[in-house]
This record gives sequence, structure tokens and C-alpha cells, in this order.
Amino acid sequence: MALLIGSGFPNLDVFPTLLRKKTPKDPINETHASTILHTVFLYLVILPLLYLALSAIGWSDSWNIALSFSLGGVIHVLTESFDQKGRRLLYPVSKKFYGIRVLPYDFWTYLTDKKVLALEGGLFILAFLLLVF
Ligand SMILES: [Zn+2]
Repeated sequence: MALLIGSGFPNLDVFPTLLRKKTPKDPINETHASTILHTVFLYLVILPLLYLALSAIGWSDSWNIALSFSLGGVIHVLTESFDQKGRRLLYPVSKKFYGIRVLPYDFWTYLTDKKVLALEGGLFILAFLLLVF
């Protein structure tokens, strides 16, 4: 469950696009996938911090949860580095987008498909509830 939540976590930077509710003229330059949430670096920082935080509150599987969450985030970022946009794989050393750009970047079309959004949102909420309860 931590892996699923971690793999969805980078997409929290989609909210500026969602809130504007207008079709972007230049989708590849949207905020989505351009923030620190879509960097490998963030999950390397989160890993020890999450482990320490979960250990401090007495969770017995704190290392597995922290590692799974971070792995989910890294897998997300690396997988998306195969689209036209690439990702900031070397952040904070470089802010340049890197990747093997073999897939299209058409996030807006993907995002505005209400069935896809409902499915992804539902899976994210389900994963969260299963982890907590
Ligand atoms: Zn993403």
C-alpha cells in the first residue's frame, strides 16, 4: 500500500492545472511534472525522514513502509521519463529534464478523461485507506 501511495504522490503537483480548468495551450510546459515532486532526489530525502518519523510513532514496519513509499515515487518518476517532457532526474544538480523520449506527453487529455480520473482517484483513496486501517 505504501508503494501505491508513493507511486501516486508525485502527481500532487497537478493541482495548479486542475484548478485552472482550461485546456493548456502548451501542455508540455505545465507545472505538472516540473516540481520537486517529480524528482528522484525528493524520495531519497523522504526515505530516512519517513523511516524516522514512523519509528518514532512506534510503527513496526517503518523501514518497509518508508522504502516502499520512496520506491513508488522513484518508479513513478523514472517511468515518466520516457515521455516527451522527460523529468528532472539529476535535480538538484541540474534543473534540466532528462529521459528517453519515446512516448507522447499529453497529460491534459489523460487528465480530462473523467473515467481515468475516477479510477486513479479511487485507487489512491483505496490504497490510503488500506494502509491506515
Ligand atoms: Zn507524474
